[in-house]
Amino acid sequence: MLTPRQLFLRHQAQTSDFPLLLEIERAEGVYMYGPDGRRYLDLISGIGVSNVGHRHPRVLAGIQAQLDKYLHLMVYGELVQAVPAQLAEAIHQTLPAHLDSVFFTNSGTEAIEGALKLAKRHTGRTELISCLNAYHGSTHGALSITGSEDFKNSFRPLLPDVRHIRHNDFADLALITERTAAVVIETVQGEAGVRVPTPYYLPALRRRCREVGALLILDEIQCGYGRTGTMWAFEQFGIEPDILVCAKGMGGGMPIGAFISSTEIMSGFKTNPILGHCTTFGGHPVSCAAALATLQVMQDEKLAEGVAAKAARFRAQLRHPAIRDVRGCGLLLAVEFDSFAVLKPIIDHALAHEGILTDWFLFCDNSLRLAPPLIITDAEIDEACAALLRAIAHITGQ
Ligand code: PMP
Repeated sequence: MLTPRQLFLRHQAQTSDFPLLLEIERAEGVYMYGPDGRRYLDLISGIGVSNVGHRHPRVLAGIQAQLDKYLHLMVYGELVQAVPAQLAEAIHQTLPAHLDSVFFTNSGTEAIEGALKLAKRHTGRTELISCLNAYHGSTHGALSITGSEDFKNSFRPLLPDVRHIRHNDFADLALITERTAAVVIETVQGEAGVRVPTPYYLPALRRRCREVGALLILDEIQCGYGRTGTMWAFEQFGIEPDILVCAKGMGGGMPIGAFISSTEIMSGFKTNPILGHCTTFGGHPVSCAAALATLQVMQDEKLAEGVAAKAARFRAQLRHPAIRDVRGCGLLLAVEFDSFAVLKPIIDHALAHEGILTDWFLFCDNSLRLAPPLIITDAEIDEACAALLRAIAHITGQ
């Protein structure tokens, strides 16, 4: 009989020749456990998913309650199902008043697709603008606006009429014109290696979009849902989007995403054609139940409020001659080293010898990714930092 590892390699499609290959049997809170009982401290949360920790009891209870009622009933938008409707209202309550209409999807990239279509439908324009080094997803539309030629070249032709601007560059705002349907931007760039815009950039971008009648789409798939220390990252920059996109952390470990706008803008999907955007599984009641419980946990446990102190605790301890910089916003942190050649053995050593799971970034391979569950305790942060510093010292000899 083949082992799960052999089956994984033989029959599960691979995305690289060097998968992590860590086998996990169960997970709880900030920890994951291998079949041999070995414990791993999860410092990346499945890339920003397990913000409330793995298997939060209230998320499990929410899922269980829904399992006892029904699973899938009907495609999106036809039947009244209590939990998705309550979730839409609960999300709206966390947002500025005009963001009152929520369209649920199964993933981040699908939410981006919906947002792009909505912007084209609403403005009647076709040009889409996004940032260099932005990551927005893997489907054709989201890939088209992803800001990396390496990722796109083999899959052309992609969407026409896409332009890229330099992130945080005021001069490039002039490229946004009356032709532009929407500008899509991560409020805090994730895969670029956690790039936080300077204070006046997003307000200037917001103004420029208004001037020319382009919609502003904020991608908070990675930086949203409490991770930066506020429920939504945009709250810290004094702007509001026309369309907000989220996913990852919102499901507490279940697959769900959403794009959110005003009822007026969203109504474009109702006519010309009707059913302008459809999905069979989007807003699945079990995922919505998990998401509703997750939002309640975030609020009741005041997880976003705790983020600043936890981030400061990481930053205070992550000091070493080999660390060139610690960038970030809340618990979305990038620890920069000289090169991938220095960083990769540190990541490998931390995993193999310290039981610490970290990562690097798609478009920034000299920086260590730290995005732990927001429930991480001070003692666990101290444990993580001590282990990382031991790994750094071991590899660099410093
Ligand atoms: N946007 C951002 C900012 C992301 O970080 C990601 C996922 N890494 C996506 C979009 C795509 O989300 P998904 O993988 O759920 O399709």
